Order: sequence, then structure tokens, then C-alpha cells
Amino acid sequence: MKITDLGTAVVAGNFDWIYVRIDTDEGLSGLGEAYWGAGVEPIIRELKPFLVGEDPSNIDWLFNKLLRYMSGSGSQAGTVVTAIGGIEIALWDLAGKALGVPIYRLLGGRYRDRVRVYADCGQGDEPTPESWAERARTALAGGFTAIKFDIDNVDPERFGREPSVGLAAPWARSHRRPLASAELDRIVELMDAVREAVGPHVDLALDCHWNYSVSDAIRLAEALEPFDLAWLEDPVPPENWEAMSRVTDAAPMPICTGENLYTRHGMRDLIVNQACDIIQPDIPKTGGILEARRIADLADLYFMHVAAHNVSSPIATMAAAHACASMRNFTVLEFHAMDVPWWDDLVEEPGPLIQDGYLALSEAPGIGLTLNEEVARSHLREGSTYFGA
Ligand code: MG
Repeated sequence: MKITDLGTAVVAGNFDWIYVRIDTDEGLSGLGEAYWGAGVEPIIRELKPFLVGEDPSNIDWLFNKLLRYMSGSGSQAGTVVTAIGGIEIALWDLAGKALGVPIYRLLGGRYRDRVRVYADCGQGDEPTPESWAERARTALAGGFTAIKFDIDNVDPERFGREPSVGLAAPWARSHRRPLASAELDRIVELMDAVREAVGPHVDLALDCHWNYSVSDAIRLAEALEPFDLAWLEDPVPPENWEAMSRVTDAAPMPICTGENLYTRHGMRDLIVNQACDIIQPDIPKTGGILEARRIADLADLYFMHVAAHNVSSPIATMAAAHACASMRNFTVLEFHAMDVPWWDDLVEEPGPLIQDGYLALSEAPGIGLTLNEEVARSHLREGSTYFGA
């Protein structure tokens, strides 16, 4: 079998969902999805000449070939790895279809027949305990038993006073500032309301989006001890494993990080130095299915769990689920589309795909999902085509 063509389509969900389709001379096609980001989709299309004519079953060889062609080892921009990750997923889908087996069977089989999923709740509509509790109850009503909140901008009064040279989303705040005691009190108040609303046995995680200094992160972690958090996410930026390690050693709850790191090389320092408790690769973003599995295996050498980051459509979410099913140390996969009512409609298979907080894996070949052309076309990003047509 030889690759004959590659096309892309970008659907505007709550993030851009960048689809990659790889066609072959035997009439089979593989579908992948890349993580969003400026420049990712053009890079995917630029890589087409390096794929056409190749045997698509040599997935790892092709992965490394593409990395080499994009300037060699150790120098790839994140967008390059992300673009290649979307292609890699399409190659796995194709391999599964060619052999008539689901992807997890090609990864050594599965540890679980359904993958636990947690709901990213973002924030309440307002920074009030009532609003946050309501948001948590909405997630539980959807069947989830694990949820996550973001604690950016919970003190709008203070946020409004912050000096800034321009407007930015709270999570995109580019300056670092101390954690004010009023804000810390507000965070505790909100978490108290959420824990009260969901009861003691729902897994509750909290995302800090890289905003704090080491000492503030430790203050925050200590203040949140009563809420029995499943994890505290990205309390400090992940680039400096020694700083992350200080937080991990001091915090009473597990520290989780990794969504912005690429390939096993990006994760290595955090894992081998045990600078976090839970590693959190975003599977398409970090380089794809095999790279995520390698990261999980490296983490398992240190008895560290994997909680996979995910903001994708059903295609890459299910692709990630195949990888997660094959990981010995997997715990939970993110679902980030509570506010996208047509998320399930993007595929032809009957939904909802996530039931009772789990994503079931089928025996269908490849990823096991078919993009619904009509729905995808109706949400195409302006300027995008449906795989060139
Ligand atoms: Mg996060």
C-alpha cells in the first residue's frame, strides 16, 4: 500500500479541530486530528510531499522521517510536533483499517475496555460559590464522576486593577504576580462550594495554568488541602523541573503537569527527577499515539500515573482513548466540550460517545469513528475546505 494524497479540514469547535486525511492507492483512507494552534494546518499540508509514495504502515519510521525533514533532531518547534502528531494518528487509523483491528490491539492490547473521562468545567458563569456549585452539578448530571475547574480570574475586582499593556484572556495572562490573600480566600470559598455540591467521592482537580511563583503555589496547595484534590495542575510553569519539584515535594495533593510539553524528550526531566506526581500528555499535541505510549511507559518506571490532557473533537479524543486503554498507568482522560452540544454529532456513530463518565472502545477497525461530512461542513472554519473539496 502506498500513500497517494493528504488533505485537511478545519472545524471551528471551542478550539480549532484540524483533521488530516491520508489516502492510499488501495482505496483506504486514514483520519487523524491535530491539536489547534497557529501554523499547524499549513505545516501538515507542507509535509505531504514527504508522505506520498511511502508505505503508511511504517508509522514510526515516517514519524521520525517527518521530524528530520522539519530540520532535524532537537530543534523542532511545538507546531511541527503537533502537525506530525495529527498525521501520526491518521497513520494509526489507516493501519487499523488495513488489518481490520482497533488501534489498541496494535499497541499490545488493552488494560480496560472503557476509558474513564473527566469533565473540564472551566469556571462557573460568575466567580461566586453558587455559580461554581451549579457548574459542578451540571457535570455530574451528565454522568461524570471526575471534574476539573480553572482558578484563573476568580477575583475580577483585583484582575481589573492589574496593570497590563493590552487585553488578554485570564489564562493567557503574560505577567506573573503575587497571589493576593483576598484571591486565595476566594479560591478556597469556591472550592468549598464545589466540594460541598459534589460530595466527598467525586474526583476534583484544579488547574492553575502556570500562574504562580513556587512559594505562592505551595501556599495555595496548603490552603486547598481540606478539599482532597485529585490533583493540582500546572501550579508553576513546567519548563523548570527543579521549581516544579519544590512544589511537588511540599504540596499535600498530587501535582500534575505536561500538557504543553512535546515528545518524551520534553517530559523526561519531569519524570526521571520525579518532579511531578502525575504526567499529563496531550496525545495529539505531544506527537501522537506511540509517543504518548512511550511517555506513559517512561512514567510507569517511576510508578507515576498518566492523566491525559484533551481538548479535541471525538476523532482525536477516541484516538487518545486507544492509547490510554493500552497504558498500564492510565487514570483519566479529559473531556473539554461540555458547552459544544454538537460534539457527538461530528461522527456518524450513534452517541453519546461518553456514557456515565466513560468512553467505550469498540471492535471497529482503526479509531472506529467516521466523520459526519454534513455536520463537519456546517462548522468549517472560515477559509477552510473539506479535504480540498
Ligand atoms: Mg491544564
